[in-house]
Amino acid sequence: MGSAAAYYLSRAGQRVLLLEQFDLTHERGSSQDHSRIIRYTYNNPAYITLVTAAYKLWFALEEASGEQLYYKTGGLNFGAPDHPSMRDTLHSVQRMKIPHEVLTPQETRARYPQFTIPEAMQVIFEPESGILTAARCVAAHLRLAQQHGAVIRPNSPVTAIQPQADSVTVHTADAVYSAARLILAGGAWTNDLLARLRLPALPLRPMRVQLAYFQPPDITPFSVGRFPTFIAWVPGIPAYGMPSIFDSGVKVAFHGGETRGHVSEIDYTPDEHTIAEIRAFCRGFLPGADTALKQTRICLYTMTPDEDFILDQHPEYPHILYTSPCSGHGFKFSTLIGSILCDLALTGSTPHDISLFRAARFTANA
Ligand SMILES: Cc1cc2nc3c(=O)[nH]c(=O)nc-3n(C[C@H](O)[C@H](O)[C@H](O)COP(=O)(O)OP(=O)(O)OC[C@H]3O[C@@H](n4cnc5c(N)ncnc54)[C@H](O)[C@@H]3O)c2cc1C
Repeated sequence: MGSAAAYYLSRAGQRVLLLEQFDLTHERGSSQDHSRIIRYTYNNPAYITLVTAAYKLWFALEEASGEQLYYKTGGLNFGAPDHPSMRDTLHSVQRMKIPHEVLTPQETRARYPQFTIPEAMQVIFEPESGILTAARCVAAHLRLAQQHGAVIRPNSPVTAIQPQADSVTVHTADAVYSAARLILAGGAWTNDLLARLRLPALPLRPMRVQLAYFQPPDITPFSVGRFPTFIAWVPGIPAYGMPSIFDSGVKVAFHGGETRGHVSEIDYTPDEHTIAEIRAFCRGFLPGADTALKQTRICLYTMTPDEDFILDQHPEYPHILYTSPCSGHGFKFSTLIGSILCDLALTGSTPHDISLFRAARFTANA
């Protein structure tokens, strides 16, 4: 989110400084991975409106960067027809007139023989779903921001923040900066940054998510061009996956798990138990996908209780904005969030409806 905001602000002619506590490609946060799903299939029409705007900005970013960042694969949502996520997603794509097909498991198998979906389930196919090459998207935002004059300082943790009436002072270990505006996009560390502003903690909880990338002997049926993205609303924790891209292997993971109070409590060591559970999912729904484990990694979701994002301004210092668009589904919006942050920082308003994301929904009764 920070790299996208740096891009739009520098492109708008602002002097921009981006501070990152680790190196620029570190894997302790949420955004460094081969791929992330982008899709219209949301259970809430508000997100469909936002993702429509996000698609346009990704296409513009591809043009500006000269790089393909979105790969159209088509996407499946499957589960029991009365599963709330299936039911609400179907309602909202119908209401928003998003092209889609409702398929039987048999029809799905004719199209995608890689899947074995139980007859009692229903499948929603959405053709514009695809993957964003996540790490390359972040790199593109950063590269273009630098080309527009942004200064990027890795390994520079923000240690203190002092707001003033119309400016803000930010400290790192070896420097003090003064700025007219400040955007905090700290991912799973957001509450640490809010604490530096003496703002109350938000109910944000880091979740450790372990991903598996498998390399079947013949990867072609599981690669971009042959394999769709999918979200499986199966009993227990939902699962999702996406095709192999740039030799990554086919990716499968669970959308959920235990949350922690603070990132410092996250164990970044991958475990065998999760791989066994992912393999069990594959045996049921994707036979043949999980033969050899190519790589596994830990990534962080930053969860809100309602799984909607946070994007708001400091109650006393409106020139300070903070955001955490995650709950495991924020990446597809990152370029849009960057442009919204840019508009809010420069004009105080945005044409997009971000009312869902107000922090006050958690703090109002506190
Ligand atoms: C496994 C996994 C799968 C996902 N799949 C999808 C998907 O398919 N589709 C989708 O749309 N979304 C998906 N998401 C969600 C998406 O990746 C996140 O919403 C998004 O990456 C969040 O970006 P962010 O900028 O908020 O956080 P981050 O990328 O973590 O960035 C926050 C940055 O702030 C830095 N920082 C924190 N504190 C300080 C400080 N004091 N000083 C300086 N720097 C600091 C951190 O080091 C970090 O680099 C997934 C997430 C995960 C983990």
